[in-house]
Amino acid sequence: MIDEILKLKKEKGFVLLAHNYQLPEIQEVADFVGDSLQLALFASKVPERNILFLGVDFMAELIKALNPDKRVIVPDPGATCPMANTLTVEIVEKFKEEFPGVPFVLYVNSRIECKALADVICTSANAVEIVKKLPTDTVLFGPDKNLAEYVAERTGKKVIPVPGEEGFCPVHQFDPSSVDRVREAFPGVKVMVHPECPKAVRDKADFVGSTGQMEKYPTKEPSKVFAVGTESGMIHKLSKVYPEKVFVPLEEAVCENMKRNTLEKVLHALREERTEIVLPKDLIEKAKKPILRMFELLG
Ligand code: SF4
Repeated sequence: MIDEILKLKKEKGFVLLAHNYQLPEIQEVADFVGDSLQLALFASKVPERNILFLGVDFMAELIKALNPDKRVIVPDPGATCPMANTLTVEIVEKFKEEFPGVPFVLYVNSRIECKALADVICTSANAVEIVKKLPTDTVLFGPDKNLAEYVAERTGKKVIPVPGEEGFCPVHQFDPSSVDRVREAFPGVKVMVHPECPKAVRDKADFVGSTGQMEKYPTKEPSKVFAVGTESGMIHKLSKVYPEKVFVPLEEAVCENMKRNTLEKVLHALREERTEIVLPKDLIEKAKKPILRMFELLG
């Protein structure tokens, strides 16, 4: 199957982009593996006009919005993000009405219709920097309440979570006792966790960062063993980058939506050249503004 995927990809002029949380065999056939923003930026640089994207829907939408002239295909259009889906246009509009003049900062893990209403987009890697750079002491932040809380801790600003209690990633809800367990099992282990984790887990960790930041952390640390507090696909990515180090899961954490993409579906998508992501032009234009604002603020 892998041989046929590689052959078809070449024949049809596709580039395969996979998120860090994809299955190991999917990461192996991909041309580039990264986080959602890295993938969207990489897509802009490749000469191929055809992109087969392996991740979940909001990421495919982001790639399409930043590369409207390219054709973006996904193997399973049902691969979605339950956290992104907690935030709707109606909820965003309601909060904007309730807090006039308060900037709406939207995590990239959100639907494109909501992005179109945001003042600025952020990623888990730059959320703190973006909020620090905004000229107000209060911001609206959605949809992840844990990332909102982390940003408030690190910036000292008032961060209002939108939609609120229901906005969180189910995959990152680790138990703080797992940190103790892993420290006991692997003395000297360094524990790294994603800011989508609850505060009690973040507080016990050695390092809090996005998947991109997790990828750099082992370079600075002489430890041999690292516990990884994010989706299990990241273990494969890290083990490839640092073959001399050992990466163990903090807990088994599997995003079922990410894992909907299989080699069979990839092959089928390449043969049939579907399903294509199609977005209205005006929606792309509106969603691009807060994305470009993010780049402006980051300089
Ligand atoms: S890991 Fe969490 S945030 Fe990422 S796609 Fe899955 S449910 Fe959404």
